[in-house]
Amino acid sequence: MTIDDAPREALRGGPRELLRWVATGAAVSRADLSRLSGLSPSTVSQRVEALINQGLLEETGAGRSRGGRRPRQLAVPTGGAVVGAIDLGAHHARVGTLDLSGRVVQGRTLPVRIEDGPEQVLGALLAEVAALAAAPGDPTASGTASSASGSTTAGALRGIGIGIPGPVQHSTGRIVSPSRMPGWNGFDVAAFCAGRVDVPIIVDNDANLMALGAHRTAHSELDHAVYIKAGTGIGSGVISSGRLHRGAQGSAGDISHCRVVADPAPPCSCGNAGCLEAVASGAALVTALRDQGVPVSDLTGVIRLIDDGDRHATALARQAGRAIGEILAVVVNFFNPQVVAIGGRLADCEPLLASMRATLYERCLPLATQTLLIERVATSQDVGITGAAHLVIDHVVAAN
Ligand SMILES: [Zn+2]
Repeated sequence: MTIDDAPREALRGGPRELLRWVATGAAVSRADLSRLSGLSPSTVSQRVEALINQGLLEETGAGRSRGGRRPRQLAVPTGGAVVGAIDLGAHHARVGTLDLSGRVVQGRTLPVRIEDGPEQVLGALLAEVAALAAAPGDPTASGTASSASGSTTAGALRGIGIGIPGPVQHSTGRIVSPSRMPGWNGFDVAAFCAGRVDVPIIVDNDANLMALGAHRTAHSELDHAVYIKAGTGIGSGVISSGRLHRGAQGSAGDISHCRVVADPAPPCSCGNAGCLEAVASGAALVTALRDQGVPVSDLTGVIRLIDDGDRHATALARQAGRAIGEILAVVVNFFNPQVVAIGGRLADCEPLLASMRATLYERCLPLATQTLLIERVATSQDVGITGAAHLVIDHVVAAN
């Protein structure tokens, strides 16, 4: 099954927003929802009833009384693993099951060989998600979607969100010209997965997943945010007016082939030279160090060298930070976000972060940086699968 982009955020107080307010604890009753949304109590009740019937909300006993009958409390069902998530990386994948509030029920990290090709890699990861969903303690979970209504469906698998470390056409779930993913170009992830599990499959790139996961957990009160994912590759996800901004074809935020000042300009997998990815990604740092005769095999080795104060590695990390800062400065001047947060394995690299921050302040208009937050994405390994789960939750709510 191919899933089109979820409909745009409904007006204030739409079902998705009501669910989110309950999931985040901002609301525990119909009265809270009415106050937050400005909707009449009868409209709120109608929407809440619909969400309860779909198994997306439940009533849990009684709340605090204000004199009359004690109001029933609303909650997001937490009784089972209801959303599957896969966050595929260059060498590892994080898979998990999450409840409807986006909390991780089970998570597992697995080694991955991208070069084994999409069928083998995705087939194994789907099997893992199915195994987690069917794990003891969650007897209602299954590999198929449930169309029954009522809270008894809370444990059924409602969908699987999948993040890919390369460009993805979100509307079709197809991978388009990924670098470092031989054999994956043009692969229809959504169709492949839909042939194996009978639940909605939603596919996006890993930076968008990180952006959504980080925004929903750390910055949901902020409307405009940019998240940089700097790991083996480099990319970004954009939150605009509270929503993930994908652009016309789903490539919004893909900064990997923006050109930066570099001399000499290293060649890039796209055929150009001096792209951000060829200068500042983890893969680029590995290549540059090897070219200097430093025996390093992967990004872990590079990070170790930087932590040890190796001067070659540290100089390269600073250069990478400046390059990221250069591109980010354009983004910040143009887009005026409230927060810029960097995640991925290079986010813990202090020299990179310091030079990125300095470049950003140097190149941005004071008006754009006056109140700008520059942060690290909370270093949770689950931020990607959390984003994947929210993709599915948003889809489920919008589809009902
Ligand atoms: Zn390039």
